[in-house]
Amino acid sequence: MSRVIVIGAGVGGLATAARLSVKGHQVTVVEASDRVGGKLHTHRRNGYAFDTGPSLFTLPAVYRDLFLKTGKSLEDSLDLQPVEPAFRYHFADGSNVLVPGVDPAKCAQAFAQAFGDSAGKEWLEFMQRAADMWRLTREPFLQSPLRGFKSLLPLANPKDIATIAPFTTLRSLAQKTFSDPRMVTIVDRYATYTGSDPRKAPAVLATVPYIEQLFGVWHIGGGLGSLADALQRRCEERKVDIRLSTSVSEIVTEANHVTGIRLATGEFLNADIIVSNSDAQLTYKKLLAESTAKKPKISGDPSLAGFVILLGLNGITPNIAHHNVWFPRNYDAEFDSIFGRNPKPVADPAIYVCAPNDPLMRPNPNSESWFILVNAPRHDSSGKNGVDWDAPGLKESYGQQIIDLLAERGTDIRSRISFMEIQTPADLERAVNAPGGSIYGSSSNGANAAFNRPANQSPIQGLFLVGGSSHPGGGLPLVGMGAEIVAELIGRDA
Ligand SMILES: Cc1cc2nc3c(=O)[nH]c(=O)nc-3n(C[C@H](O)[C@H](O)[C@H](O)COP(=O)(O)OP(=O)(O)OC[C@H]3O[C@@H](n4cnc5c(N)ncnc54)[C@H](O)[C@@H]3O)c2cc1C
Repeated sequence: MSRVIVIGAGVGGLATAARLSVKGHQVTVVEASDRVGGKLHTHRRNGYAFDTGPSLFTLPAVYRDLFLKTGKSLEDSLDLQPVEPAFRYHFADGSNVLVPGVDPAKCAQAFAQAFGDSAGKEWLEFMQRAADMWRLTREPFLQSPLRGFKSLLPLANPKDIATIAPFTTLRSLAQKTFSDPRMVTIVDRYATYTGSDPRKAPAVLATVPYIEQLFGVWHIGGGLGSLADALQRRCEERKVDIRLSTSVSEIVTEANHVTGIRLATGEFLNADIIVSNSDAQLTYKKLLAESTAKKPKISGDPSLAGFVILLGLNGITPNIAHHNVWFPRNYDAEFDSIFGRNPKPVADPAIYVCAPNDPLMRPNPNSESWFILVNAPRHDSSGKNGVDWDAPGLKESYGQQIIDLLAERGTDIRSRISFMEIQTPADLERAVNAPGGSIYGSSSNGANAAFNRPANQSPIQGLFLVGGSSHPGGGLPLVGMGAEIVAELIGRDA
């Protein structure tokens, strides 16, 4: 029986551990913090509950497969709920649109009603293009180990390459498709689902709204953190040993082969195989000794980070949806502030509010739990490559600025606040070891980004990578796919 150690109990680590245990391996998960889930977490206070990481669950089929292959089904393990309607988008000109959670045709109708018939027609065209992109990329790229540009080989047909348009950005595809700039703004936001700038991210990200609308937008009763709890239970049922509050300081190798890990306490644990769910940069730069041969270099823009405000509110907000976005007057200014040479907090950011109508997430029916997220530059205490989010007074003043902006836009909740908590990129970095508090590891900025992401199988024998910072990327669906790829690469115990 081979001994596998998984570093990190994020979703990727737990999903891989569960899959490997079924394949006959003896699996231990070591997690630095005192809880599982990593970024996926439901924070509770005074009867209010907040999903402080993922608040939107898409493509549940990935987790259906995981749960079915390791025991009871997903539906028997947690309370999966469709979100309907899903989004209310507010624009700076005062207009808004309420978008259904599933079915591109219904979404097209909603856009047609709000912005005119051409918006609906153009949305269907855009979804058709995205459907073709999804058909072409799902299996050879997203569900397979990374093989660089060779991943595109199955697409030898020039028509298929033209469909994917690897050198076209998401922004330019949207501008070519839509006559109403508000539709371009809606599409732009999907680049941020991978921590990216729509002016640099590839057009193939059109598949993100497509899979959202085709397979639905989902909530999990009690909060999405329940998925982490269910994964922990599944691992424990499969006899995976999970050790919390156990930090790994080194991956030990001998002749380019892993031999085990050294804990921060100095203790050595031997292993035949190591799966690192820690950020890929940390894995290669910090956990492996300088002298380790064949350490790959990690290139590309890092993902953006997030500034989070948690609000316990008295009373109910009129017209609030489960997911709400207030778009800024100038979305480009947001991407310039985050990805430009002189990163700074975004003065007028897109404001996302998740306000789940879930009795398990609020103290009484006349109250709301609001998770507010705005995109932000990464944390850098020197202030050179990001913002020093620990600077005295910054988080308080910026938090107030966001709440005042909402009031200016007609949603004034200032008199209803029962309490407020702020989590900056620096806090996320400390909580889950995410460099700079980045949401997704690396971004998808640039045509090469997807191919440059660290592969799941490292050149160091016995070392595998899983999670948002490695192939195929961040977000719950892709991280779940990464876990499946890693489990397949490792295979059954001989
Ligand atoms: C604010 C925010 C909003 C998001 N919204 C969404 C959303 O709506 N939908 C969606 O699908 N995704 C969303 N995401 C992204 C999603 O949360 C991540 O892609 C996913 O959870 C990452 O999982 P992971 O497996 O990479 O592990 P991580 O969550 O990064 O966890 C890694 C774990 O490894 C541990 N670790 C690291 N180093 C060590 C070490 N040396 N020793 C021991 N343990 C270590 C850490 O403590 C951590 O628990 C969001 C993320 C954030 C932060």
